[in-house]
Amino acid sequence: MKQRILVVEDEDAVVELLRYNLEKAGFDVAAAGDGEEALSAVADGVPDLLILDWMLPHVSGIEVCRQIRRKPETRDIPVLMLTARGSEADRVRGLDCGADDYVAKPFSTNELMARVRALLRRAKPAEIAGKLTFGGVEMDLGSHRVSRAGRSIHLGPTEFRLLKHLMERPGRVFSREQLLDSVWGRDIYVEPRTVDVHVRRLRKALNGPDDLDIIRTVRAAGYSLDETTEEEKSA
Ligand code: CA
Repeated sequence: MKQRILVVEDEDAVVELLRYNLEKAGFDVAAAGDGEEALSAVADGVPDLLILDWMLPHVSGIEVCRQIRRKPETRDIPVLMLTARGSEADRVRGLDCGADDYVAKPFSTNELMARVRALLRRAKPAEIAGKLTFGGVEMDLGSHRVSRAGRSIHLGPTEFRLLKHLMERPGRVFSREQLLDSVWGRDIYVEPRTVDVHVRRLRKALNGPDDLDIIRTVRAAGYSLDETTEEEKSA
């Protein structure tokens, strides 16, 4: 069965561009022109993914995202936010409201399609019997062993927790503050830049000379796991 994507956007030209490309890629596409319409469309049938514009008449994209995250039956829908707002604070706000990822307008169709595929891949958390796997990396949560393509990897406790957190929701972009809360804990005061230091260590440990870097740095926002090739990233 085709996967269904709901596009929430009030600009017809953008809707048509998205519809054309998504249908060509084999998706079923539904569209809603404002936030209220989006919420009632989601209530009628949960889509596999939501592409949500931030700037909508009446109810904003942020508010739509919040409401979707509040209900158990819609909480897990992957949400890709479209935003014309480029400041760091706005990006982080988008992630804080529960969006999984965002693409800034004007967007490249190739990049947007790559983000859509990445989010759909992550929709099923890959935890089987205490094991997390992603992009050839395997984490055994019981024995605390990590390997990549058979090569055993040594991680410090913070890098282990950081990788575990990212591997539990591959594709989802986490802001530095969100990572600090979940990996370090709310009661500890740590500089957001500390996250960068540990990500650097984690990358060094994970990536052999011929390996794809599975950690994506999202400019001005944070980090996510990503199997997208360099070509797709720069497209
Ligand atoms: Ca709009």
